[in-house]
Amino acid sequence: MNLELTEEQKLLQKTVREFAESEVKPFAKELDETGHFPRDTFKKAAELGLTGIAFPEAEGGAGFDHIAYSIVIEEISRCCASTGVILSVQNSLYCDPIHRFGTDAQKKKFLLPFARGEKIGCYALTEPQAGSNAAALQTKAAKKGDAYVVNGTKAWITNGGAADAAIVYVNTDPPKGERGITALVVEKGTPGFKVGKEEKKLGINATACCELVFTDCEIPAANRIGTKAKATKSRFPLSMAAASALPRKPPASLKARLKPL
Ligand SMILES: Cc1cc2nc3c(=O)[nH]c(=O)nc-3n(C[C@H](O)[C@H](O)[C@H](O)COP(=O)(O)OP(=O)(O)OC[C@H]3O[C@@H](n4cnc5c(N)ncnc54)[C@H](O)[C@@H]3O)c2cc1C
Repeated sequence: MNLELTEEQKLLQKTVREFAESEVKPFAKELDETGHFPRDTFKKAAELGLTGIAFPEAEGGAGFDHIAYSIVIEEISRCCASTGVILSVQNSLYCDPIHRFGTDAQKKKFLLPFARGEKIGCYALTEPQAGSNAAALQTKAAKKGDAYVVNGTKAWITNGGAADAAIVYVNTDPPKGERGITALVVEKGTPGFKVGKEEKKLGINATACCELVFTDCEIPAANRIGTKAKATKSRFPLSMAAASALPRKPPASLKARLKPL
């Protein structure tokens, strides 16, 4: 088995290492001390295509693969572990489920601007009483017409305070236990959704973790991701028809920015 990086992967590694040294490392200590969300760094990372590394350009991504994603997160984390987690959450916890299981309409609204880094995403699974055993989550979503009414509290949500949208894991059918768990996309500003306290453990909170609180929060049923009938097939990009209907803007192409070794 050949584990050597390809020439393109080496170029990517070098490009991202230089970016991390110059744009991430100088602020790592401050981030550890304050726990503020690094908006400027996030914006610069987005310009380089690091907020949607392994998604097709038609979905707002940089068109790379998961090895490239690993190289990027490794290089960023080498200079600042917190920024590495922040970008990892944007790419793999927020964008990826929508890329894999979202409908074309969901991808247009909840993936494209996030993969481009114009918006920030987060992933809300953990609860104060449900960590490793995530299946014990108690956030409930009762169906009401074409909406779900969500009640519950999520804890330790990276990017939580800064995010424009969250993938929130809820139980729509509590008697079914963990088989009733599903995911809804909740947008910032939705009535009944607020950011709770900042999480602090050992005095450190460098990934801008917050609680997210839902009180009779009505979410359109169309925001449910992974419904079997409507999901776009896993791993396949948008259909050509859907892609051509997307708003036109050149994606931040990481490939075009690779510098020679
Ligand atoms: C910096 C940070 C960022 C985070 N970001 C997010 C996020 O973006 N979204 C999100 O949903 N969550 C997030 N989390 C929460 C994280 O996913 C949970 O902390 C994790 O699932 C562990 O849960 P817990 O902290 O409640 O620990 P617990 O589940 O209480 O576990 C405590 C200890 O017991 C051990 N343990 C637990 N169960 C068993 C078992 N059955 N057998 C043996 N050992 C066991 C664990 O390994 C651990 O050492 C974040 C946490 C941190 C610290």
